[in-house]
Amino acid sequence: MDKSRRRFIQGAAGVAAGAAVPAQSAKALRRENKPLPPNALGMLYDSTLCIGCRACVTACKEANDVPVEQPAHLRDWNVGVWDTGEDISGKTLNTIRVFTHGTKQQKDREENGYAFVKRHCLHCVDPSCVSVCPVSAMLKDPDNGIVTYDPDACIGCRYCVYGCPFSVPQYQFDDAFGKIAKCEFCQHLQKKGQIPACCDVCPTGASLFGRVDELQQEAERRLSRTPGDRYEFPRGRLGDDRPTHEAAIPKYKPHVYGVSEVGGTQIRYLAGVPHEKLGLPKLPDDSYASLSEGVQHTLYKGMIAPLALLGGLIYLARRATKQHEDED
Ligand code: SF4
Ligand code: SF4
Ligand code: SF4
Repeated sequence: MDKSRRRFIQGAAGVAAGAAVPAQSAKALRRENKPLPPNALGMLYDSTLCIGCRACVTACKEANDVPVEQPAHLRDWNVGVWDTGEDISGKTLNTIRVFTHGTKQQKDREENGYAFVKRHCLHCVDPSCVSVCPVSAMLKDPDNGIVTYDPDACIGCRYCVYGCPFSVPQYQFDDAFGKIAKCEFCQHLQKKGQIPACCDVCPTGASLFGRVDELQQEAERRLSRTPGDRYEFPRGRLGDDRPTHEAAIPKYKPHVYGVSEVGGTQIRYLAGVPHEKLGLPKLPDDSYASLSEGVQHTLYKGMIAPLALLGGLIYLARRATKQHEDED
């Protein structure tokens, strides 16, 4: 290898080393999770109080003007018989699902038991659906934290469908002008001073509306009580004067789901069986948005490094060419 070529390679290596983005893991590049908005509103869903009546599903459909759905195997049953869809869909914003095991005899028991869970948008504190949407059609209210959807802005790319850790946004495939369907926390009712329809009709207080900080205190109060103690479970809105639902404190799993998962959610869950059995997965505390946005911003900032590298290489190539000519 002649001297000028060696000098070029050594110089290039030095330029590259100085300009390269340090080899850090994606976790090290993440930004902080976003905080809970100052007046965050949410829901405490207590699976042990849910009796699976699905009044919330019907009320949701009525309040949001979406049609009823029938699973295919029920379609020919009888005229006028209906059942809800098996999961949330382009036409169903919430469903009640059931975990079962063995003989399915005891409610809220993991062994030979069953437990209900209500499935809809969790109104994440740092939502990935908002982060991935290229046209800001998914929006998080900076004050109350409700995650809403603007169909006029939506371009139908469905990034939100793939980005949501809970598989919540549903695309309306059967509509030529299909849009995304998801729970928007009945914001239209809230603007009129009403509470979300599902919380309004829930007979047991399993779906309870309120400020997230107060709902969290309520959840911790329940967890601190001894199983079997009588308790006045609030119904509708926390702090409302509507009659309570009196029942015994159940044997809760000692975890409020939604406090930390993917940066926190404004819907919080209590349950008598492990949350993952109810389709609420174990998730990291870092929001997906904090990871992806942190890496993206570092890469954009990191564009300076490749440009510096390119400039350095051009300089070295020119200098090597000149030296080579001088040596000849
Ligand atoms: S649950 Fe999914 S759709 Fe709802 S706010 Fe979180 S990321 Fe968005
Ligand atoms: S808050 Fe409204 S849209 Fe969301 S699940 Fe309840 S009733 Fe349906
Ligand atoms: S209305 Fe309440 S009790 Fe009935 S299914 Fe819905 S959450 Fe459960």
